[in-house]
Amino acid sequence: MFDLLVATNNAHKIHEYEEMFKDFNIKVHSPKELGIHEDPNEDGDSYEANSLIKAAALAKHTKMAVIADDSGLNVVALNNFPGIHSSRFASSLGGNAVANLELIKKLEPYKDKSAFFACVITLMNVEDKPVQFKGICKGYILDKPHGSGGFGYDPIFFSNEANMPFGEAPEEIKNKFSHRALALQKLIAYLKDKKLI
Ligand code: IMP
Repeated sequence: MFDLLVATNNAHKIHEYEEMFKDFNIKVHSPKELGIHEDPNEDGDSYEANSLIKAAALAKHTKMAVIADDSGLNVVALNNFPGIHSSRFASSLGGNAVANLELIKKLEPYKDKSAFFACVITLMNVEDKPVQFKGICKGYILDKPHGSGGFGYDPIFFSNEANMPFGEAPEEIKNKFSHRALALQKLIAYLKDKKLI
């Protein structure tokens, strides 16, 4: 069994990772379970930088392989806003229910509703340097929220690949096509190549 610490306290993300790793020889651990409390300042200027900040903060506490991801929603007509500020934008408005409506409103003047989710996973404590994997999931912003599945911006995002709003997508569909799933498939291929799983 390959033990893997997933550097997030977001219960939704831990659940998605557990589901996506379940067919592999990988046991997911959370920082909470290992008694590690880290809340690093994500002050990088890219998904890559913030993902590395999070992974490095945890990796110093353990020899176990660690992954951290940084992700966000990028709205093309808004110069990729909220992007790396996705989490902060939602909390500044008291949560995604309001942030999602606010994004729809901001986009009203634009014809181009295209958007993409991005995710960068950083793996540490395997090689002597961090290794990164990126996933991009393309789609567009809907004119109103759809469904209550997933989390965050899922209800206002229509995924081209899944051909449905992520808010309405069954878990196994989102976990096949999402930005996180695509980055994770690259991580799995890497771990297999290294004969670690
Ligand atoms: P992070 O935890 O710093 O990576 O925050 C990323 C933020 O982007 C989350 O809090 C959500 O608002 C948003 N986000 C990232 N991935 C997803 C997703 O799969 N669905 C919906 N929103 C997401």
